[in-house]
Amino acid sequence: MVLPKHAYFRGKIVPYSEATVGVATHALNYGTAVFGGIRGYWNEEKQRLFVFRPHDHFRRLLNSARMMCMEINHTPESLTEIMHELLRTDGYKQDVYIRPLVYISEQGIGVRLHDLETDVTMFALPFGLYVKNDTGAHATISSWRRLDDNMIPARGKVAGAYANSALIKTDAVRAGFDEALVLNVDGHISEASAMNIFMVRDGVVITPPVTDNILEGITRKTVMELARNELGLTVVERSIDRTEIYICDELFMSGTAAQVTVVTKVDHRNVGNGEMGPIAARLRQLFDDVVRAKNPKYAHWNYEI
Ligand code: PMP
Repeated sequence: MVLPKHAYFRGKIVPYSEATVGVATHALNYGTAVFGGIRGYWNEEKQRLFVFRPHDHFRRLLNSARMMCMEINHTPESLTEIMHELLRTDGYKQDVYIRPLVYISEQGIGVRLHDLETDVTMFALPFGLYVKNDTGAHATISSWRRLDDNMIPARGKVAGAYANSALIKTDAVRAGFDEALVLNVDGHISEASAMNIFMVRDGVVITPPVTDNILEGITRKTVMELARNELGLTVVERSIDRTEIYICDELFMSGTAAQVTVVTKVDHRNVGNGEMGPIAARLRQLFDDVVRAKNPKYAHWNYEI
């Protein structure tokens, strides 16, 4: 595994080997941490790294922390400054993934959220494709169910909840699939293990609403905006039944790591004609230009390092 070069740890940037916690740390024992995942894209022509929508990612991170009663003295702006300094120190000239983490850093036994010391850390890593087959993935419907808002809120990126995602992903991969779609307890589709999902039926782009136990994805929001404004498509947020997935024309997943990953098969059934559809293809191209700071109309989403 590639390790980060540096980390922001206990208030300053240090060599990664110095950013260590004790084994009694609350977050390690109880999953009491919230995190983010942000991509930085290397623009070869401009010889610059551009981070995609960091302000939105940090706002979501702080909201996740609020849901988990974690009190930290930060704003999206102060976290952006830390990220800036970290990436300047790392000096990567390639695509990277940035991982901010707010965690209960106190050491000892006792399950609770209140009156515990909380800290912030951040690191970055070189990063390529997350789903290797991102133009023709084969997905399954997981036998696991998505955590409900009244169990661990999916709209918060809570570390402990990712045990659910890890079970979903591992069972799918071991069964020979690239990814899995996950049903809510009520049987509707929520999302994939770490991506939001979209289907196309009769030219309409459909994605589950934020009340269906999904993470409120920043890539999801981006894709919705590009589909509406650039392709003139109707985008609808509504619950999705399992069998709609078997008969839809196109299916794709969105996420910071997964970007726009196309699913061409679900449980051995072809999606549409079994090849990438025209809407997914156009969205992938648009998305790539936007995140790489090649589309001036969306330059406000590209934070330059
Ligand atoms: N759902 C889950 C469960 C995720 O972990 C992620 C990745 N952050 C997403 C959706 C996609 O969210 P975003 O587009 O903000 O990365």
